[in-house]
Amino acid sequence: MDRREFINKSSFLAGALPIGGLLPTYITKMMEQEKYQFKLGKFDCTIYRDLMWKYNAKDYFINADQEALTVSLKKYALDADNIPSPFIAVLLQDESRKILIDTGSGYLDEPLVFRGNEFIVKGKLARFLAQDGVAGEEITDVILTHFHLDHIGGVFTEKGKLNYPNAMFHVSDVEWDFWHSSKSDEQIPLFKYYIEKNITPLKNENLNLVKGDFEEIIPGITAVNAAGHTPGQLALIINQEERGNRLLYVSDSFLHPLHIENIKWQTNYDFDNNKAERTRVKLLDLAYKEDMMINAFHFDFPGLGAVQKENSNWKWVYLK
Ligand SMILES: [Zn+2]
Repeated sequence: MDRREFINKSSFLAGALPIGGLLPTYITKMMEQEKYQFKLGKFDCTIYRDLMWKYNAKDYFINADQEALTVSLKKYALDADNIPSPFIAVLLQDESRKILIDTGSGYLDEPLVFRGNEFIVKGKLARFLAQDGVAGEEITDVILTHFHLDHIGGVFTEKGKLNYPNAMFHVSDVEWDFWHSSKSDEQIPLFKYYIEKNITPLKNENLNLVKGDFEEIIPGITAVNAAGHTPGQLALIINQEERGNRLLYVSDSFLHPLHIENIKWQTNYDFDNNKAERTRVKLLDLAYKEDMMINAFHFDFPGLGAVQKENSNWKWVYLK
């Protein structure tokens, strides 16, 4: 399905979000769904829902005007203390490659005890891949868009075995350098712990440090500098040769559609809010002008949609 066809199909939804009403059935359906498959040029794409998490409005929209926020939360039928959010991973397969974008949170038999707190981590990605007959050894490439734990948790098993032993790991060189320098000393200790465990050992594996902006890293996949959420976050253009049938994977540049509709609404999870805003504008302009669908990691599963522009305001339209 190309972007225009998809927007036409979905256009009735744009005005259909009820104010304070029930969640539209398509959103409810997507929230229950765990796997979504579609074709993107030469790629067979599968989006997996690794797990569901929840966030709250006070971390997600730290500088939003209270009144506007209340109206917006109602529009999306959201409770300020319970903003449901999936973690996802995307598998792209063509004749010669099996490419994984992000790896979810990982799976731990026992709760992780870190500085007196317990974390239960039961990501489903490994199980889904096994169900679909995809062995970790078959994965040729893993792209880690940034080094937050919901994206890198599945690189190694609980016992320290690499889940994708034959893969080339593509990561941003800026991201790598930041997290391996004293500049990251003030970051959340749990994040640092995950990086020591799941990223640093990759220096002994096949590692591709991505340097440029708009750099083709795998045939058909181009990395775009999307700094702000983290110092070296990457967005990805998938199936870049085929105009009208391209996907922009924005990772965490927008944590919720409200960050598209209010690009100045900042989150507690962004490393540099000003850079994050510039990246938002860059990615929205790119998707709109270049006719791309968008996949956003933390939006209602599977996080697929497109943007429309009305005057100078952006509007998010979910894939039905
Ligand atoms: Zn994330």
